[in-house]
Amino acid sequence: MANMAQKYNPHAIEKQWQQKWAADHIYEVEEDNKRTKFYALTMFPYTSGDLHIGHWYAMAPSDVYARFKRMQGYNVLHPMGFDAFGLPAENAAINHGIHPYNWTMRNVENMRQQLKSMGAIYDWSREVITCLPDYYKWTQWFFLKLYDAGLAYRAEAPVNWCPKCQTVLANEQVVGEGLCERCSTQVTKKELEQWFFRITKYAEELLDHSCLDWPERIKTMQRNWVGKSEGAEISFRLENENIEQKQIKVFTTRPDTIFGVTFFLLAPEHPLVPKLTTPECKAEVGKYIAWCRRQTEYERLALGKEKTGVFLGSYVVNPLNEERVPIWITDYVLPTYGTGAVMAVPAHDERDLEFAKKFKLPVRTVIAPPSWTGEELMEAYTDSGTMANSGEFNGLPSEKGYKAICDLLEAKGWGKRTVIYRLRDWLISRQRYWGAPIPIIYCDKCGVIPVPENNLPVMLPADAEFKPTGESPLKYCQSFVNTTCPKCSGIARRETDTMDTFMCSSWYFLRYTSPEMSDGPFSDAKVKYWLPVDLYTGGAEHAVMHLFYTRFFIKALRDMDLLDFDEPFARLFNQGTIIYRGDKMSKSRGNVIAPDEYVTELGADAVRGYLMFIGPWDQGGEWNDRGIVGVSRWLNRVWTLATTDYSSRVNDPETEKEFLHLTHKTIKEVTADLERLRFNTMLASLMEFSNYLSKIKEGGMVSNSIWWETIDYLLLLLAPTAPHLSEELWARTGHSYTIHNQPWPEYDQKLAKEEEITLVIQINGKLRDKLLVPASINEVEAKELALSRERVKAYIDVKKLTRVIYIPKRVVNIVVAS
Ligand SMILES: [Zn+2]
Ligand SMILES: [Zn+2]
Repeated sequence: MANMAQKYNPHAIEKQWQQKWAADHIYEVEEDNKRTKFYALTMFPYTSGDLHIGHWYAMAPSDVYARFKRMQGYNVLHPMGFDAFGLPAENAAINHGIHPYNWTMRNVENMRQQLKSMGAIYDWSREVITCLPDYYKWTQWFFLKLYDAGLAYRAEAPVNWCPKCQTVLANEQVVGEGLCERCSTQVTKKELEQWFFRITKYAEELLDHSCLDWPERIKTMQRNWVGKSEGAEISFRLENENIEQKQIKVFTTRPDTIFGVTFFLLAPEHPLVPKLTTPECKAEVGKYIAWCRRQTEYERLALGKEKTGVFLGSYVVNPLNEERVPIWITDYVLPTYGTGAVMAVPAHDERDLEFAKKFKLPVRTVIAPPSWTGEELMEAYTDSGTMANSGEFNGLPSEKGYKAICDLLEAKGWGKRTVIYRLRDWLISRQRYWGAPIPIIYCDKCGVIPVPENNLPVMLPADAEFKPTGESPLKYCQSFVNTTCPKCSGIARRETDTMDTFMCSSWYFLRYTSPEMSDGPFSDAKVKYWLPVDLYTGGAEHAVMHLFYTRFFIKALRDMDLLDFDEPFARLFNQGTIIYRGDKMSKSRGNVIAPDEYVTELGADAVRGYLMFIGPWDQGGEWNDRGIVGVSRWLNRVWTLATTDYSSRVNDPETEKEFLHLTHKTIKEVTADLERLRFNTMLASLMEFSNYLSKIKEGGMVSNSIWWETIDYLLLLLAPTAPHLSEELWARTGHSYTIHNQPWPEYDQKLAKEEEITLVIQINGKLRDKLLVPASINEVEAKELALSRERVKAYIDVKKLTRVIYIPKRVVNIVVAS
């Protein structure tokens, strides 16, 4: 490419290098037991349309990191694929009147070209597309494995239903004020026969992030999602003669407050409600239950709203003090949490107190706050304290009372210590077309029969009418539904629901290791070599969905002896968001930036560089057209530095010393910043360094050999960020192809080290302290450092500080008034 114009022309060089890299297969990787592997994974995109700059923001910095690890000598796997089933593709297909398959594959084609224009090291021979039969065959196979292991089951359950999308939603897909995550429609409830995965079996293990290098907030969100509560299950006695059941169970986290129970609450849906309702209360109760049905879960749990409820006319007996307390129903008790019953302790629970005030029910303090003198509490007291009004337990600290009461409950058989979780099983049935069919057959004679493994995949029929009706579109596709029973060969029907796409994305990173496998989902040996993923990057919005389901999935596979590790993603990093015109980019706001025109105009390297310069990667930043032009100008300056002649004129030893120091300091800083994924400060160092180089070049102040050695370093440091430009300049400065197979530069410890000086600290002219500081220290830093010294503080604490004088690189003199 030597005959090219001397001007930086990204358009001309980028395509050519991309083609050459592809033709030479330089980014294809194989297992190599002699090298340390590094699996750098970026969340694969949905196929709902074009890539916008937000996708690039997820992908370009992670490619830079993968390239960096590669130059460091790791055997790096950094694959790419497409999350191709699911609602976005199906809705888009419906809106555009094209078959979801055609729509999806057209998008894949387009997105793949866009990704190629980014110049990433994706090994395209490993591409995974989840909607293709050679992939979903194995998604179905995993379903059968989970079924065999007792981790997949069918049950009738009230489900979240989006009336607009006409489908069931997982709890995780109901967001904000009970809205559909996809279309923001108010979610309702519906009773359906559904397939579930027993994720609750792993609740305790999913709480454990101890071996994971993950952001704290994601771990917290997952912990809250599991919602573990420790407490006791207690039986209250029922004395209604016409009811068989003689007790009713509650769960409480505060058994130490049991003497403060003044009423009892049930969820309106609790099965005992009709039996416990006395004839005189029937009308009122019926009206209330009907009203509750119209409320969403979000409305029911909203804090601070006025409490509602009705008395059933019946009572329960508190086992500890034999008191009869009235039973009410209220909407803030949910049938799905605990036992659907609550022992109300208004003195020590905010919502119970609001309820008691509204319905004039008694309030009894049983946990005394410090220095309490028996007066009525104005607010619910929820901390620990001293037990009061609690019979034999009076005077005990409440923590001790908790234990004593649990012991008593267990001794008398009235209850037991227990743990409950908010987590519910993962509902995976979807009444939609564009997903992997659930491989189950229903036979009137034999019941539920899994599709035999050798009959997989259960193909998604191409000719089904896929418009949503509220029922699975596959129900109306006779050629799909009608089948024969694998057991008795009689007439049978196929399951017509498809699987939640989070099932497809729970294992795609295993498939990347061996996409060619046709007799299994993955090669054991290859998975053993590459997994777990060393660094996983993507959006934080997946905290309690994809990132949570995948952990469950891997643990389930481990327990089936299909894998030998516990966690899929050792390190997790969430990138921030790119803001444009003051808002998060979205098609509906019309503020989406397409990367393509910038790539055409300024080059992929400028777009990559600018995205990384915009702010710390985990925070994101505001896209600004002037900003990207600035990065493009910088790349032009690098071009000039490397392509124009250099001649040494003044060979100043001091300058050379400084030059080498700054070179090695820059290598050190860039390496450290890349390791921490601090791309913006990495680029700031490189920019500062290239400015310095321009200055030195003008004066010709270092020898030719040192100059060109440093230009090599600059290009190597730039290679992960600007792979095309650095490759071109590597060739133009006379090196052999390819820069991307060069080792990452090592810095010389001695040269990189900051020179140190001794800073003397005087107080009123007298030497009081001495310390070693970097020679580059500035006035502000030196003064701050001096004033923070313990020895200095001792003086200025008692006397008035009047002035601080700095004599550069020598003395800080502190003047105090006596
Ligand atoms: Zn919806
Ligand atoms: Zn049968």
